[in-house]
Amino acid sequence: MSKFGGAPKCPLCAKSVYAAEKKLGPGGKDYHIACLVCTTCKKSLDSTNLCENENKPYCKACYGKNFGPKGFGFAAGGSMMHTQ
Ligand SMILES: [Zn+2]
Ligand SMILES: [Zn+2]
Repeated sequence: MSKFGGAPKCPLCAKSVYAAEKKLGPGGKDYHIACLVCTTCKKSLDSTNLCENENKPYCKACYGKNFGPKGFGFAAGGSMMHTQ
């Protein structure tokens, strides 16, 4: 019963992720904080702007550009408002 490497592997760089530097990313996997950046613009991501598509991380802006705003309430434009 020997288990090697208790630390999970970062899907992006394939190196071990230790507790101090890990961040839950797309697919419920552990990523390095430094690795978890937007696939398109390389902006660093945190829980407030992290989006995912096919297990790849994107920021909200790029996600909206690439995949459309489905699932997100874009309140800023106000076009969804129909007050009567
Ligand atoms: Zn990594
Ligand atoms: Zn981005």
